[in-house]
Amino acid sequence: MMDFARTRKLFHMPDGVIYLDGNSLGPLPHSAVERVSSLMTHQWGEMLIRGWNDAQWMTMPRRIGDRVGRLIGAPAGTVVMGDTLSIKVYQALASALDLVEDKSRRVILSDSGNFPSDLYMAEGLIKSLDRGYVLKVVAPDDVEAAINETVAVTMLTEVDYRTGRLHDMKALTAKAHAVGALAIWDLAHSAGAIPVDLAGAEADFAVGCTYKYLNGGPGAPAFIYVAPKWADKARPALSGWLGHERPFAFDLTYRPGDGIDRMRVGTPPIIALAALDAALDAWDGIDMADIRQKSIALCDLFIREVEGKCPSLKLGSPRDGSKRGSQVSFIHPEGYAIMQALISRGVIGDFRAPEAIRFGFTPLYIDETDVRAAVDILADIMTNNLWDQPQFKQKALVT
Ligand SMILES: *Cc1c(COP(=O)(O)O)cnc(C)c1O
Repeated sequence: MMDFARTRKLFHMPDGVIYLDGNSLGPLPHSAVERVSSLMTHQWGEMLIRGWNDAQWMTMPRRIGDRVGRLIGAPAGTVVMGDTLSIKVYQALASALDLVEDKSRRVILSDSGNFPSDLYMAEGLIKSLDRGYVLKVVAPDDVEAAINETVAVTMLTEVDYRTGRLHDMKALTAKAHAVGALAIWDLAHSAGAIPVDLAGAEADFAVGCTYKYLNGGPGAPAFIYVAPKWADKARPALSGWLGHERPFAFDLTYRPGDGIDRMRVGTPPIIALAALDAALDAWDGIDMADIRQKSIALCDLFIREVEGKCPSLKLGSPRDGSKRGSQVSFIHPEGYAIMQALISRGVIGDFRAPEAIRFGFTPLYIDETDVRAAVDILADIMTNNLWDQPQFKQKALVT
């Protein structure tokens, strides 16, 4: 079993904080501070524009894509970084719809546990294309039954952001393929949280962000994976100059670049990529199977302790660890105030409307002691109704 005491030291944690929100924004890796500072001083400062060649800025999206790829079962050369996840969802969906042979298929299938931005991006794309596509949103448990010959593309998020419910990527992808549809997977709450095997599951496209479990920092660049069999066929939809076959030929017409390179759009965010690159060092030598084992143990412990000490909280996540990502939610009508009270005591999780308090468990820097201490504070808040104060009921912009 991995020694997570080593990785814990890699992160800055403010005094008095138990951080159970690494599923929303991972903490700051010490190495990111050094890397970004060094890049600013030595590269941006001294090299100026020469950095694109001399410091290999231009190839960073591919090099870092390969590092992320190792964590999600993607072969080298199939992942590239850039833009935000919402944009990558749009790009993957547009490309996938293009690749579906049977153009009479009209359904883009998703579920009601998907993150709204994915659904909104699909809605927007459907309007722009104006080809009669419909977004069909079913309950997560009904997805498998809804995959039929009307479906062009399934667009699913593997781990439900609110409940942590885990879809069976391999089985649903196989079903999609069996009916002639393509499968897009959003790994926002999977990458760095659970083992993912994109190649083994034969996913067609995958996308994800890097500021959650991968600790790349607020607004860190997203990634996109394209299965090798589609890499040279996919039309990237967002046909920017850096996805062009020869950006510096400055041709007046677009020709897609080789393979995954075509999914690049514009100038990459070098400072953000440097922070992410440094953050990914924490994963060197880590086996995702060890992460998974520890993550399930931490989540199980949390559920057991909360149910034992806070009877008014109702579990909002699958009880079976194998059917859950690396997060746990509890349901309570006063969830927002309870979470605010917790945060005021240094236990940071978040609230997801309408009633979920959500906690992420990240073995790289959270251990059993943190879990027990967090539950003791939660139990104090629940037993003594400490959440029932006006200052905890004032809704902030970000919950
Ligand atoms: C976090 C998350 C997003 C956020 O998209 P951004 O463009 O990075 O803001 C989108 N989809 C899912 C499934 C998410 O969990």
